[in-house]
Amino acid sequence: MNRPDPDFRSDTVTRPSAAMRAAMAEAEVGDDVYGEDATVQALEEQAADRLGQEAGLFVASGTQSNLCALLTHLARGDEVLSGESYHIVRYEGGGASVLGGALITPLPVDSCGGLAVGDIQAAIKPPDSHFARTRLLSLENTVHGVAQPLARLQALTGLARQAGLACHLDGARLMNAVLETGDEAAKFGQLFDSVSLCLSKGLGAPAGSVLTGSKPFIAAARRWRKMLGGGMRQSGILAAAGLYALEHHCQRLADDHKQASQLAAALNQTGGVRAEAATNMVFAMLDWQAAMGLPDWLAKQNIRISAPQKIQQGEAVLGRFRLVLHLDLDSRASSRLVEEIARYPGLQAI
Ligand SMILES: *Cc1c(COP(=O)(O)O)cnc(C)c1O
Repeated sequence: MNRPDPDFRSDTVTRPSAAMRAAMAEAEVGDDVYGEDATVQALEEQAADRLGQEAGLFVASGTQSNLCALLTHLARGDEVLSGESYHIVRYEGGGASVLGGALITPLPVDSCGGLAVGDIQAAIKPPDSHFARTRLLSLENTVHGVAQPLARLQALTGLARQAGLACHLDGARLMNAVLETGDEAAKFGQLFDSVSLCLSKGLGAPAGSVLTGSKPFIAAARRWRKMLGGGMRQSGILAAAGLYALEHHCQRLADDHKQASQLAAALNQTGGVRAEAATNMVFAMLDWQAAMGLPDWLAKQNIRISAPQKIQQGEAVLGRFRLVLHLDLDSRASSRLVEEIARYPGLQAI
């Protein structure tokens, strides 16, 4: 198979490797809505095991996973507390509100991606008919690439539990946090009532996430998945890719992290870029005028990056790029990106 053009937009752009496709082709399948797909069941069990939970549910996407979790945790008029920049708050169409009548309350997120104990405390409402019922704390790891240490999550979930809240972890990229912190996935998982893990990000599967939790929780989430139209039939074909990813692609995330640090260091050498790495992501700042033209210019050299975000830093207006490393990018792709940026005519010293 030909290597696709370097694509730094996201770790979702990876294509299944030949070995992963072979595992998919050979998968034993059955009708999963009838509970007869052995490969789906193996994936659900293995994911639950890794995440320190009792049971798992294979779902179409991370969004569907979080939505099934929130609909299971929350009734109409219940409230979930989460970070203002977290995926559940920002990028899931307000699904839990639209479909579940739940209130999603955003809390401030600090520069390390974490929430403050005091903000959570202040947001938990007393039982009073004026207020929504605060029922759930939903955290994330990694947060935009930044690994959240176990101790910090422990402090937050400990507080939530004391107040009678359930805890959900959007662990779309939890395996990146596991590598970065050196703490096992189950250690993180055990702090939460439910944990969602994406198979289609750095783990490199073509689709799917696994939601994990207690047996009764997953039984209830399974009903929601069916209602959301997520009951799939011979989905073992897809689950096989997820199983392959869990077995073969967790450790290799370390390569992505290493590549990200090297890329950030090399970009900083160009003089026109200020970059820093966080797990498999690089955040690179350029002068705003320079930044605006860069994606199109790189596209002409067959390199894809996302559009920059405009940010004000004192007097300076800057463009901030998110570059994401993944298994379809090797060190040659990173070197090419740096070379092209270094000779980009719009580059300005910052
Ligand atoms: C990607 C992502 C999701 C959702 O995944 P999709 O499969 O794109 O729906 C949820 N949470 C976080 C933190 C993510 O990065």
